[in-house]
Amino acid sequence: MKIQNVIAMAVLVSATTIFAQDKKQENQNLIEITSTIYMLQDQGGNIGLSFGEDGIFMIDDQFARNIESTQATIAAKDKQPVQFLVNTHHHGDHTGGNIAMAKTGTVIFSQENVRKRLKTAVDESKTKDGDTSLPMITFSEDMRFHYNGDTIFVFHVHNAHTDGDAMVYFMDSNVIHTGDVFFNGRYPYIDLKNGGSVLGYAKALSKLLMLTNEDTKVIPGHGDLATVKDVTFTRDMLLDLHNQISKLYKAGKTEAEILSVIGITEKYDALGYGSGFINTERMVKTVYADVKKEND
Ligand SMILES: [Zn+2]
Repeated sequence: MKIQNVIAMAVLVSATTIFAQDKKQENQNLIEITSTIYMLQDQGGNIGLSFGEDGIFMIDDQFARNIESTQATIAAKDKQPVQFLVNTHHHGDHTGGNIAMAKTGTVIFSQENVRKRLKTAVDESKTKDGDTSLPMITFSEDMRFHYNGDTIFVFHVHNAHTDGDAMVYFMDSNVIHTGDVFFNGRYPYIDLKNGGSVLGYAKALSKLLMLTNEDTKVIPGHGDLATVKDVTFTRDMLLDLHNQISKLYKAGKTEAEILSVIGITEKYDALGYGSGFINTERMVKTVYADVKKEND
């Protein structure tokens, strides 16, 4: 091999290695929140993790397609198995890794409506190992884990993003994972077909604000790490949108007429709230549909 070719090969190999490392860092973003609690951002909803002497406690597991890289990221940080996994709700970008996690002996738990909805989906798809993806333990209102030096308070909030949402509050570390009952800096997805509601969502955020304080670190379902100020802003925004759209609805305005009133969402749009998964039109349509249901 000519010397030029050898150099070219070496450059190519190192470029590939650098690219692979970049890609790995891009795909898996493990963010330290406290010495024991981390947030893992990747393809689906944010994952929460508590590492410590007792083992690993995990919140949500994103999609089936990226669970192997999630497991590798966790193992690179701590070789212990994940002992407990909570599904904050049934959506696939938070529960898709369940089958793979159950295979490693992880005990999966959730609010009981999450299991019901996952079970229906498994029954409809008739997948062979689908049942192993179902939470083994369910609760109706709340549970407490005494784990890794923390009291972990897992509590149900009613008819918010869905009808099975749970938030997870690490009380001693003062960190809370909201599931999809909070999207940081964007309009939230409120799944009306699966028991979600605009006022329930706002009420759930008020409950969070009652339990926490200004120093609490908030892991949202989607978006970057947040503060209670961000949560307050979203709660007030939803109440404002609901209030404005209710008034217009009661004044006899149609959905199309309400959609044409730019002023309703203007100040939130200016802050980029409509740039995520739920754009302005979808947000207004969701609030309109929910207001209509309330008044039917
Ligand atoms: Zn969701």
